[in-house]
Amino acid sequence: MAGLLFGTGGTPHSSQSQSTVDGIKRIAELGLGCMEIEFVYGINMSETSARLVADTANSEGVRLSAHAPYYINLNAREPEKIKASQDRLLQTARIASLCGAKSVVFHPAFYLGNPPEIVYDTVKAHLEEVLRQLKKENNRVWVRPEVMGKGSTFGTLEEILKLSAELDEVNPCIDFAHWHARSGLFNSYQEFASILQQVEERLGRDALDNMHIHLSGIAYSDKGERKHLNLEESDFQYIELLRALKDYEVKGLVICESPSLEADALLLQSTYSTT
Ligand SMILES: [Zn+2]
Repeated sequence: MAGLLFGTGGTPHSSQSQSTVDGIKRIAELGLGCMEIEFVYGINMSETSARLVADTANSEGVRLSAHAPYYINLNAREPEKIKASQDRLLQTARIASLCGAKSVVFHPAFYLGNPPEIVYDTVKAHLEEVLRQLKKENNRVWVRPEVMGKGSTFGTLEEILKLSAELDEVNPCIDFAHWHARSGLFNSYQEFASILQQVEERLGRDALDNMHIHLSGIAYSDKGERKHLNLEESDFQYIELLRALKDYEVKGLVICESPSLEADALLLQSTYSTT
């Protein structure tokens, strides 16, 4: 893979339409390298459209990933909600694979007041069932649980790295803005470097060569994330993060989730190339 690619979470605002195909074309026109297809409010793409998406991404040279619906909780109390959550993840992986996306990002669970260690085991067991099914279907997408921004959500850096270390097809989605908002820390070169170091130690160099990163500015309180902001409106030290990513020769996708989408993705890309 060619180094570190920058792109948007969803179709850029300046695309001809909000369709995924027009989004991919716009990404290429802007000189960006990747785009995450947002299925966050449901999977609304036919197989025929998915194949067209794959062809477009191929001819435009744009790398794709997909984000699963928000309505996933692998720690739900009701078995039918677990099943529905697993189905949503499976369906995302199936359509993502048809689109030629290599990674599927998802928000794993809520603690619902349960002890985190117990929730970890529950999430892991239910995720393993999904992975087994994907294997049966010969679906090779990377399944990526995301580092989450609120204290009530499963997804500390440690939990995500542990899942990634213990399950073969799992790799992390590291949302540096979320982790900064959640911890109130991790906003300096040294701290960013310590995360990358940990990724390498726990998951191996391969993980740094195949990273999936979410980035944006962020507003937060002592409970963690409040909302995403544009980079320049927030305290997030993205230049220091970009320096760390460069020094560690991190490869993969950086998905920008600022409200301005492509404007901040371009800012990240140009800053990275001159850092
Ligand atoms: Zn997300």
